[in-house]
Amino acid sequence: MPYERIIFAVIRNTIAFSLIVLLCSPRLSAEALFDAHLHYNEAHAARYGPQQIIQKLTDNDVLCAVVTSTPAHLATRLYQQAPDRIVPLLSVHRNPEDKIRWVRDARVVERIEAELKKGVWHGIGELHLFAEDRHSAVFRSLIDIAVRYDLPLVLHADPAVIDTLYEIAPNHPSLWAHAGTFPYPDLIADYLRRYPALHIDVSVRDDRIATNGEISDDWYELFLTYPDRVMIGVDTYSLSRWHGFDSAVERIRGWLALLPDEIASRLAYDNAAAFFNKSPQRQAD
Ligand SMILES: [Zn+2]
Repeated sequence: MPYERIIFAVIRNTIAFSLIVLLCSPRLSAEALFDAHLHYNEAHAARYGPQQIIQKLTDNDVLCAVVTSTPAHLATRLYQQAPDRIVPLLSVHRNPEDKIRWVRDARVVERIEAELKKGVWHGIGELHLFAEDRHSAVFRSLIDIAVRYDLPLVLHADPAVIDTLYEIAPNHPSLWAHAGTFPYPDLIADYLRRYPALHIDVSVRDDRIATNGEISDDWYELFLTYPDRVMIGVDTYSLSRWHGFDSAVERIRGWLALLPDEIASRLAYDNAAAFFNKSPQRQAD
């Protein structure tokens, strides 16, 4: 074969191969995500240092993340590692037991206020609170503080708690973690309609949202009706969630890809960026 023809064949094959790679790769540059629900607790920090966590986020194109920690200072450690990418949320828990106790512990109020004076925090939460404790004086004080400092609240809570919050502070921005404790789209839609400052994150609700490669009709309708009020998150509530971070992100991307592009981008990134007022240069690669 003449020399020119060999060169031509090589070029042709290279182009053909590149085209195949291009067409077969699902998404060469994944869309950036803003994770609205991460935990970085003591056991997680013992296994993954701040640099490793940031690397995990980078590897998964998670450009920004909201992080809360028990104890609280671990979130600031992560924030110091990547201040443009981490939104630190102030936890009311010093240890796992506080998750249940805080609602009756009046000292929480003073401690939270002292922490907020440091000026690092972008919100308070995640507060675990159920219907029977919705009239807690500590909760009421925390709502007052959140309003005074103009900081959003993140609540892992029953619907009745959301009603109590909005009786006290009708316009205060809040994020209802996991779309609430009764994550039925009809009920969620009712709450989003009733309370314009309420938003939801749909962390750990992937099984409900999508099964067998399809988004269920009621969730699809919810996302299309309230495209500005929904955020995504992995929720690293345990060390194993950090180990499986890549596949949890992939799962979320899987159902996001089934939504119209414009709606998917809002859920994936824009809504959290607007809610937490954090928007570094968004890069698609
Ligand atoms: Zn959580």
